[in-house]
Amino acid sequence: MQLKVFGKGFNFSQDGPGNRLVYHLKGCNMHCPWCSNPEGMLCDVGDFYILTKDELLSEVLLSKPMFFEGGGVTFTGGEATIQFDSLFEIIKALQENDISVAIETNGTSKKLSQLFPLLNHLIIDLKHPDSNKHKETTGISNEIIKQNILLAAKSGVDLLIRIPLIGGFNTHPEELNRFIEFLKSIKGKNVKVEVLKYHEYGKDKWEKCGLEYKMKDAFVPEETRISFEEKIKSVGLTVIRT
Ligand code: SF4
Repeated sequence: MQLKVFGKGFNFSQDGPGNRLVYHLKGCNMHCPWCSNPEGMLCDVGDFYILTKDELLSEVLLSKPMFFEGGGVTFTGGEATIQFDSLFEIIKALQENDISVAIETNGTSKKLSQLFPLLNHLIIDLKHPDSNKHKETTGISNEIIKQNILLAAKSGVDLLIRIPLIGGFNTHPEELNRFIEFLKSIKGKNVKVEVLKYHEYGKDKWEKCGLEYKMKDAFVPEETRISFEEKIKSVGLTVIRT
């Protein structure tokens, strides 16, 4: 069992609670034009290294004193579930060693629910409420993502739904209302929502990868985020900012 990893480092509270050792796993099945890790999208391009289950386990156990304030390990990407079978076995091994495990995922894996009983925290992105628009821009429709969100909410796993607001893509009032329509159907004390705003952290990386960064005029006013957060709260969901 081994994972292709293209980045690793500690991060406090933004990739799950507490101080967490975050592994960026190679490969993604989407191609979001605002991606801040374009080097993770392309499976065999760019620097990466292989980490076996035993290697990962031993470096995690050595890092255990750093997992303060409820920290642990987070797998993100690229898309963490692209390497599903290895990820499953490695998460199992971490749980057997009492390590808190989180994953950040685009939610497209049909097998995602198999991981729920093994996870302490699950972060799923929902990028657009409309399936066609989602597919047109990211390459994948949102149906499985929505199903996974509903299943996760029901399962009781600690779930954070992240919605990135991207100007010109998903911030029209009708689109925001459709997000709310979907969020209305989600119940559970285990569910929180975070609204993020478009940023350009990945721009330089696109250029370094020899790829054109096509996003333009996508910044979103703070008022849009605040009023969207208020609407989410009004349907009974908890909104957080990490
Ligand atoms: S799903 Fe995430 S990692 Fe994949 S292309 Fe989109 S933003 Fe990048």
